[in-house]
Amino acid sequence: MLPTYYDTFFIDGVWARPKGTDVIHVVSPATEEIIGSVPSGTSADMDSAVLAARRAFDEGPWPRMSLNERTEILLKIAAYLEEKGPDLARLISSEMGSPLKRLAAAAPMPALLIKKTLDMAKVFPFVESRQGMVGDALIVREPVGVVGGITPWNGPLHLLMMKFAPALVAGCTFVSKPSPEAPLDAYVLAAACEAAGLPRGVFNLVPGGRELGEHLVTHPGVDKISFTGSTTAGRRIAELCGRDMRRFTLELGGKSAAVALSDADPKKVASHAVARGLAFNSGQACAALTRVIVPRARQQEFVDAMVAEIDKLVTGDPSDPQVDVGPMVAERQRDRVESYIAAGLSEGARLVRGGGRPDGLERGWFVEPTLFSDATNDMKIAREEIFGPVGVIIPYDGGDEEAIALANDTPYGLAGAVFTEDASRGIAAARRIRAGTMGCNTFFIDPLLPFGGFKSSGVGRENGPEGIAIFTEIKTLQGVALQELE
Ligand code: NAD
Repeated sequence: MLPTYYDTFFIDGVWARPKGTDVIHVVSPATEEIIGSVPSGTSADMDSAVLAARRAFDEGPWPRMSLNERTEILLKIAAYLEEKGPDLARLISSEMGSPLKRLAAAAPMPALLIKKTLDMAKVFPFVESRQGMVGDALIVREPVGVVGGITPWNGPLHLLMMKFAPALVAGCTFVSKPSPEAPLDAYVLAAACEAAGLPRGVFNLVPGGRELGEHLVTHPGVDKISFTGSTTAGRRIAELCGRDMRRFTLELGGKSAAVALSDADPKKVASHAVARGLAFNSGQACAALTRVIVPRARQQEFVDAMVAEIDKLVTGDPSDPQVDVGPMVAERQRDRVESYIAAGLSEGARLVRGGGRPDGLERGWFVEPTLFSDATNDMKIAREEIFGPVGVIIPYDGGDEEAIALANDTPYGLAGAVFTEDASRGIAAARRIRAGTMGCNTFFIDPLLPFGGFKSSGVGRENGPEGIAIFTEIKTLQGVALQELE
């Protein structure tokens, strides 16, 4: 069992007492009971964390260590997280309600993200020799500096590791501000950093809410903000960063489409649009395939196939290994999802499954897996990110052109998938849909491949070598030969 009650932050390599008195209670979305607490950071706490990270970057050994030296310490952090993997899965499930079935399968991921990033770093072009017009030069990728990492609750440790691993590999120092809903797992990362002997100030942790986040975003000691969360917050962060030319990467919301071309197999579409769509992390996933665009003449086949998949889902206590769909993270999130279901009904979409609260689950913020058909793309349920277990089938009358136009008729552009038995037709459609990750008869998020959004889904890419590049600044170094540098 991992601890769930903390009365300190992790700043400058030590467990630091808070300067304020506010406390964040962590409430289980399944039982509505308090299961832990952490102190809520004040501006003064955040100042200490940024100062520690600044000092560690400007004066400490980390940015100047060789990749091999950094690797040694990062592998110790990975080993710590690996050992705690099953406990971490239980902890995350209890703090934000994601089914243990899913989290247990993903338990090796935090450690793997470090190891895979280190593998990529071995071949990453940190130094390149280039011929200029006037003379030769080296193109050097230097660490961007002090990174402020702001993360949401829906994949708390995983999303933090997607920033932590490449930032530290690149030689940056880091201040983490996790979400107030799910701050506990970040403490395990801090404990791993301490146990591994990470130099002081390289990783700092101060949980808190939006105001604390803005304090970090506007802090003169921070060089780069790496943010995952809603588009609304991302827009604000981009504005704030723009004022100071602070670098930023934004991983934001989505309304991704599963596009069935006229020959698509309904079973294949349904299995993806349920498991990777409305049931993906109980529907609380940025890349969930929540719009299912199907040929009108075959709509009923897709409805039947999706209903069959939905009826296999078990909704309930996320700690039960049989459960596929857990509760919404908070009461306000359930209210929000229910308001979208009401909007779907009032706008005239056909409710074919769910729509209410599941029987027998009096405690916890559950919503039944829900499916609408006969929706139009201008309905609220088709345009806005619901972030709950709600799928929307949108029929089209024309050919591939119309299906592609519908998929693109959204402010978002995070992900999507195209289904067809004709590979070249599928590739052509996938190329024309403006989204950062597109699957052809499949869909998954792969830590070795770049992930991020077009349009309002974000700026920049995480994962893959691109995910290391965002934590570097390019320097053109003239008058130096490669051998002199190494
Ligand atoms: P949110 O934007 O409300 O909060 C995310 C984090 O940002 C939290 O830590 C919060 O305290 C902080 N924050 C909020 N406003 C801020 C501000 N103005 N300045 C600084 N920090 C601020 O999002 P959420 O409800 O916690 O998470 C769900 C959202 O995250 C969804 O929109 C989802 O699509 C998105 N998301 C995106 C990805 C991706 O990779 N693209 C992954 C997961 C989640």
